Amino acid sequence: MPRTDSDRWPTALLWDVDGTLAETELQGHRLAFNRAFAEAGLGWHWDPPTYRTLLAISGGQERMRHYALSVEGHEPDADRIAALQRSKQGHYRQLVLAGELQLRPGVARLMGEAATASVVQAIVTTSGRDAVEPLLQQLLPELRPQLALLVCGEDVVRKKPDPQAYRRALEQLKVAPEDCLAIEDSPQGLAAAVGAGIATLVTQSLATAEQPPAAFAGAAALVSHLGESNEPALVLHGPPCPGGLISLGYLHQLLQP
Ligand SMILES: [Mg+2]
Repeated sequence: MPRTDSDRWPTALLWDVDGTLAETELQGHRLAFNRAFAEAGLGWHWDPPTYRTLLAISGGQERMRHYALSVEGHEPDADRIAALQRSKQGHYRQLVLAGELQLRPGVARLMGEAATASVVQAIVTTSGRDAVEPLLQQLLPELRPQLALLVCGEDVVRKKPDPQAYRRALEQLKVAPEDCLAIEDSPQGLAAAVGAGIATLVTQSLATAEQPPAAFAGAAALVSHLGESNEPALVLHGPPCPGGLISLGYLHQLLQP
């Protein structure tokens, strides 16, 4: 059978959310945590270096529990952490709806290209659905209907770096891992995707750009972002990308043979 253009594309693109679609970690979740802490009268403040370290722990409640234990010296009350999490999520939603976050370079362009080429697209995150949906509605109102599936934190028992979220997406989309491409920004996300057998493009975010290159050794490619014509992507590891625009054709090169 003659090869067509669509033979050259991945069957599915699986998108991480935080740090990949937008700089939600440092400019979104971190601020929302701090607003919740201030509202609760806590003296806690997570500056960017502190927050980058805490990002090694997946999940807001897990992160706060770890921090509380380290500053207070004992396991915090679960109800108190749950209340802080509810407050934090409220602040995060407000911040998203107030337009405080923007899409990263090239996200809308590549999503649009994939939609035009009928490539299946899905969200694979272990953040809560109540944080993910407002962000998608706010930043991708036109492309949101193109997303075939959202796997969120509520859909899995184990968060990234566990591959469960990616395995669930493969199962529900009925696609083989070797035909998919994951787009991630963190070592935890990369480990989750690679653990499910999926080739992964890593776009460095504000939260992860200071990680040593070895942290991304398993990535099929490591780039600064997805690139726009006025802001070309820089390839740090992987096939060259003349013009600096990460496209479906570029992603095809990253698929496993
Ligand atoms: Mg991420």
